[in-house]
Amino acid sequence: MKKALIFTLVAVVSACQPQGSNEVNLYSARQEALMQPLLEAFTKETGIKVNVISGKADALLTRIKSEAGNSPADVLLTTDAGRLHRAKTADVFMPVESAILNSRIPSQYRDRDQQWFGLSVRARPILVTEAVPATPITRYEDLAKPELRGQICIRSSGNIYNQSLTASLLEQLGEAPTQAWAKALVSNFARQPQGGDRDQIRAAAAGQCSVVVANTYYLANMLASQDNSDDFAAASKMRVIWPNQNDRGAHVNVSGAGVLKAAPNKINAIKLIEFLVSDSAQRIYADVNFEYPIKENIELNQILNSWGKFKADNLNLSKLGDNNAASVKLMDRVGWK
Ligand code: FE
Repeated sequence: MKKALIFTLVAVVSACQPQGSNEVNLYSARQEALMQPLLEAFTKETGIKVNVISGKADALLTRIKSEAGNSPADVLLTTDAGRLHRAKTADVFMPVESAILNSRIPSQYRDRDQQWFGLSVRARPILVTEAVPATPITRYEDLAKPELRGQICIRSSGNIYNQSLTASLLEQLGEAPTQAWAKALVSNFARQPQGGDRDQIRAAAAGQCSVVVANTYYLANMLASQDNSDDFAAASKMRVIWPNQNDRGAHVNVSGAGVLKAAPNKINAIKLIEFLVSDSAQRIYADVNFEYPIKENIELNQILNSWGKFKADNLNLSKLGDNNAASVKLMDRVGWK
């Protein structure tokens, strides 16, 4: 009986990954400069070599789907719960039960079916150039105020960050109020959406608008960019407003990862994701990319500290994926280009 059990266990493990496999294949949509120190630390600690294929998030998912059962990919690493949800919907992830992941990652930052796991938190607050805006701004809802006509710079609705922000409002406010909000927001645009989050900050600094919605790591990167004094000057003009601090909290999202169904090295894949939520890895996320740690009690980067503590919306991020399609349609209906 005992012998049979041992045999079964060995069979399960060897089906998961080749005997003595000492590597893991990572498909990464994240910048190599961020991942390199993390992966080097992982290899140093475990002796497992990481083979990285870098690419754009959507292209990597397409590649995994076309490679299907022959894909060498073990882990897909990407940003935004909306994108992680797309990968889940494409049926490429497998569920992972890991006590380490469950204890270190708050449940709102993991897929409800354990198919993807948040690894770093990114906040998307409101930034303003004026010490005193034309009207008080304390909530995302305030971006719809008529006093802000022609004052807001924000990137296009094709961008997943804005889709997820709108998806969070859909969940919290419901369809009709969110549509009214988005319509009023569009009528407050200073210009047709163009460029990324950094470009909105640059436009505000140049006087084209006074209110911006952007992820904080872009602002922090600009503040830390010694080689680009224009970006430093632009970012220095911005003040962070943490929205909805007296109600649901500021909208946050995650970067995250999942283990692929067809992964040839499943055990190493789980080890890699577990490593990425360790204290040392979490500090690298904060220091190299200015993101917020996924777990509490990790020291923040100095620039992040300068904006003060904030209350994050505790919405389960699986909802951002659930609402993504409705969010895209809503933004289209109100003419958010
Ligand atoms: Fe980004």
